Amino acid sequence: MRGIYWTRMPEYADRNGLDAELDVPAFMWTGETDMKCVRESVGQLIDHAYAHHIQRLMVLGLFNMLLGARPYDVHRWHMSMYVDAIDWVSLPNVLGMSQHADNGLVGTKPYAASGNYINKMSDYCAKCRFKPGNATGDDACPFTTLYWDFLSRNRNRLNSNRRMGFQFKNLDRKDQSEHRAIRKQAEKLKAGCTNETYL
Ligand code: SF4
Repeated sequence: MRGIYWTRMPEYADRNGLDAELDVPAFMWTGETDMKCVRESVGQLIDHAYAHHIQRLMVLGLFNMLLGARPYDVHRWHMSMYVDAIDWVSLPNVLGMSQHADNGLVGTKPYAASGNYINKMSDYCAKCRFKPGNATGDDACPFTTLYWDFLSRNRNRLNSNRRMGFQFKNLDRKDQSEHRAIRKQAEKLKAGCTNETYL
């Protein structure tokens, strides 16, 4: 990470390989959301300015990446919220590992996962109002909706990445009506996630 920072800056900070242009959602600062995994991880951040690696990467970082939040803004958010965030560590970790904004310089594939992964790795989902396996409908898990939407919208960019083959194969199992329903639900979610606030 130190090597990346010192050899690639300052251009590294502008990288946005997935053309992610949305605001970091307001609930990333407040924790005010029905998503239990996000609410509890942000709540812990507010109380202790700390969350462990998997909460950073596979809950909060994951949500921002699936949503399509601007990578440098995610870095600014990370710098503001975590007591151990320092620019040279945070920038390559957030832009590279977490948001896959550097076209694979740090990580060979995006850490993209659905709510099913969070359900398998934690106890958040059992008491959440959303269902991790559902991508559409009132009880659809936003992670799962945005996961399939992320794969669809980045298909062309990531198609040649052989490590993504399994995920794209599963995407291809969905029929056109499922794709349409997921896109529609994802657009609705994105529209509800646009209130950016900075410290
Ligand atoms: S169901 Fe989805 S939103 Fe709720 S805790 Fe699980 S992963 Fe998070």
